[in-house]
Amino acid sequence: MEYEPVIGLEVHAQLLTDAKIFCGCSTKFGAAPNTHTCPVCLGMPGVLPVLNKKVVEFMMKMALATNCRINRECNFARKNYFYPDLPKGYQISQYASPPAEHGWIEVELNGWKKRIGITRIHMEEDAGKLLHDEINPASYVDLNRTGVPLIEIVSEPDIRSAEEATAYLRRLHEILVYLEICDGNMEEGSFRCDANISLRPAGTEAFGTRTELKNMNSFRNVQRALEYEIKRQQYVLEGGGQVIQETRLWDDTAGVTHSMRSKEDAHDYRYFPDPDLVPVVIVAAWIDAVQKTLPELPLEKRERFVRAYQIPVYDAGVLTASRALADYYEEVVRLSGQPKIASNWVMGDVLRFLNEDKRDIRECPIAPASLAEMIRLIREGTISGKMAKEVSEEMYRTGKTPEAIIKEKGLVQITDEGALTKTIAEVIGKNSEQLAQYRGGKEKVFGFFVGQVMKATRGKANPQLINDLLKKMLAGDK
Ligand code: ADP
Ligand code: MG
Ligand code: ZN
Repeated sequence: MEYEPVIGLEVHAQLLTDAKIFCGCSTKFGAAPNTHTCPVCLGMPGVLPVLNKKVVEFMMKMALATNCRINRECNFARKNYFYPDLPKGYQISQYASPPAEHGWIEVELNGWKKRIGITRIHMEEDAGKLLHDEINPASYVDLNRTGVPLIEIVSEPDIRSAEEATAYLRRLHEILVYLEICDGNMEEGSFRCDANISLRPAGTEAFGTRTELKNMNSFRNVQRALEYEIKRQQYVLEGGGQVIQETRLWDDTAGVTHSMRSKEDAHDYRYFPDPDLVPVVIVAAWIDAVQKTLPELPLEKRERFVRAYQIPVYDAGVLTASRALADYYEEVVRLSGQPKIASNWVMGDVLRFLNEDKRDIRECPIAPASLAEMIRLIREGTISGKMAKEVSEEMYRTGKTPEAIIKEKGLVQITDEGALTKTIAEVIGKNSEQLAQYRGGKEKVFGFFVGQVMKATRGKANPQLINDLLKKMLAGDK
């Protein structure tokens, strides 16, 4: 029997606010353990949480960017469970009345576009972090992360393959980073994903029993975990068994998922409205104001690049991978007026240099103006394409302008017809045998002459000019 995977993803994104969600403590990553804490985020008795307005604003940005409907009123709820990283014994989350619902985003896979529904987006606080020392067996708790704001983005079970799941995740990630509300760092846990997956016989409607996968800290691991889980569930079902509803942990090293615990149901958490927090009312004027702050999103930018600059879809995809890269490219285009040539240089040398050094475009030593200037110098014939390669490397290494580098290295292309004519005459004079061959109809010898002239000018002559002059002179009408 053929089985079809049904997948729904829950994504937790840490928001880039300066302060935590219900107190004034810093959210900065990497501080000494338990230094970013106060009575509120430590869960002391008698304290009261106060909602950080920025968190609501960031949630609204994501909701609007993913076509969600924003509800006029929402509430916070207590999700009760015991764990040492949760000092209050409950997490403040949202349950019965989420702030945003019924959204969707579009993903592209092998040239096909598909809409994936977003069930809801809600706000909640993060828990602390446990550190386990395996050498001197002991566990430590760091509560710096307690109360760091999160949004949870829950997808509809619309995803049908591991590949589609990663395409969806990449798109969500890209939107969050474009909005500048999340740094997207998966290793530090700023962007985390739980994957729910079940199988059903192909062509049927009803969903099968699902498992929930946790502990994947890269896009690749999400894909691998889902691929593994599809095979595992298929094996269980084909053997006449039943999939058990449970939470499974991905083991990166072994490349398998292990059962962690049976899946808890909502009623296990004893959700109830948090009596310490008043309902959040979002008025239409606020939604409009936030809407106005939204930047152009990756997909729109991609489509505009293709339309406005007439560059291939592939180029547009690469160039809009981040807002900073897209801005860099657009600046080069504005200054050079050469969209496709600019794209070739940015995707070619610039990104290659940066990748080799694991650097971001914002740290690129080549200023957009310098790259544009170099493009102009090539077009005007001042330098050849080959020289340009040398110039771009030097620009990257030193941050100097192309003009300065060309002067320093004496890289000016010979475009003076008189000087070149003289050199060509000398070359022809020295190679009378080849000249005879050429005139006898052996056209391949032309390349030999080009090579000789290049050599005599040490690569500095304009190739087009060499070609034109050589053709004329070899033919003998000079
Ligand atoms: P929880 O995991 O907290 O119980 P939900 O009931 O909201 O949360 O479901 C979480 C995710 O599981 C959603 O993304 C949803 O699309 C997905 N999901 C629900 N049922 C199934 C199923 N049978 N197979 C695969 N995914 C499912
Ligand atoms: Mg879940
Ligand atoms: Zn605090």
